[in-house]
Amino acid sequence: MKLWEFEKLMRYKPDVSIISENGEVMCPKCSKFPANVDSKYGVLDCDICKKKNDDFIKNNPTKFGGYPDLVPRRIKEDRKKYFNSVLQPFRGGDLSKEYIEAYPEQTKKMVEDGTVTKEEVKKAKHVWKDLPGWSSRDKSK
Ligand SMILES: [Zn+2]
Repeated sequence: MKLWEFEKLMRYKPDVSIISENGEVMCPKCSKFPANVDSKYGVLDCDICKKKNDDFIKNNPTKFGGYPDLVPRRIKEDRKKYFNSVLQPFRGGDLSKEYIEAYPEQTKKMVEDGTVTKEEVKKAKHVWKDLPGWSSRDKSK
């Protein structure tokens, strides 16, 4: 995906380290192949890294403790603990109220640089309610 396509979809700039010379958003893991971009999750590994990772999980089921979604418990707990720090400002095209609450300063900056309008901030809704840790996000790091 090209940088401009990414910005149009996600409404924020990806980390510069994953942008190739010809303006393509590259895989954050191998930087050899274009990244997969998901409007919900942002930048994801390329197909090749993803397959490698899937194969690894498939071939090492015991390491992953048999959790139905194959996410180790520690990572699940971390996701809760660090809810706010992994929070994305947008979901699809919708501005996240969780983000505004957690990052008032950054939100102010986004208004200043025109990423969002004051109106959008005022109208923002909670969009990450389905994420683990949502209800305890006030205790998040
Ligand atoms: Zn890759």
